[in-house]
Amino acid sequence: MSKPLLRVEDLVTSYGAVRAVDSVTVDVAEGEIHAILGANGAGKTTLLRTISGLLSADSGRVWLDGKDLTRTPAEQHVHHGLAHVPEGGGVIVELTVEENLRLGGLWKRDRAERSAALTEMFDLFPPLWERRSRPASTLSGGERQMLAIGRALMARPRVLLLDEPSLGLAPLVTQRIMRLLRDLRERTGLTVVLVEQNAQSALSVADRGLVLWLGRVVARDTSEQLLADDQMRHAYLGF
Ligand code: ATP
Repeated sequence: MSKPLLRVEDLVTSYGAVRAVDSVTVDVAEGEIHAILGANGAGKTTLLRTISGLLSADSGRVWLDGKDLTRTPAEQHVHHGLAHVPEGGGVIVELTVEENLRLGGLWKRDRAERSAALTEMFDLFPPLWERRSRPASTLSGGERQMLAIGRALMARPRVLLLDEPSLGLAPLVTQRIMRLLRDLRERTGLTVVLVEQNAQSALSVADRGLVLWLGRVVARDTSEQLLADDQMRHAYLGF
């Protein structure tokens, strides 16, 4: 691989005596969709939260485009091009769709830039335009996930960290979200780190991925190869 856009090097994160992420290294190329897979409790969310600075690493490094972000406070990450969509999306249900989107661009000083980003989101996600004046509470699960992604993209990140977007969604809606990620990558060149317990869905859209087990990487390969590895799939991915 040419120089990775995002590099995670030998990362360790613990909760007290529990090593939830244990010496994990990941390289993600620009424009890639990279899946982080594994069962419940494997350490996926902890890894993502450490990359985005919400948890501090015991050791190891996180680099974005050659810049060391390991000790950078989470709220600064957006300035460096990293955006995080937490599990459940974190949409504010009392606010309208448009207000939620605007929140994602608030930190940008330039009003014209904020307004251009909003137009771009409505262009990328037509259902959000149709529902722009409605409270987010009226959206379906899939639409909320779309809104959460749109809000993160308002910051025009280079890397989107996405935690379990399929959670609570029906299989068909999950498929739609996965397709949306692929379209987004094609249209904008976005790089995505996709945490999923639903490995089948994630591998349908990811280029490559890795599998965590008790905080450690037990497999990493192209999606095609991971899907072809029956033993690994049965042992760690449950399908
Ligand atoms: P899930 O799909 O359920 O979110 P995961 O793969 O994202 O699972 P993590 O949530 O990162 O896994 O959890 C990894 C390990 O860390 C588990 O053993 C979990 O019990 C433990 N853990 C997670 N959060 C905390 C916390 N706040 N305090 C203590 N232990 C935690």
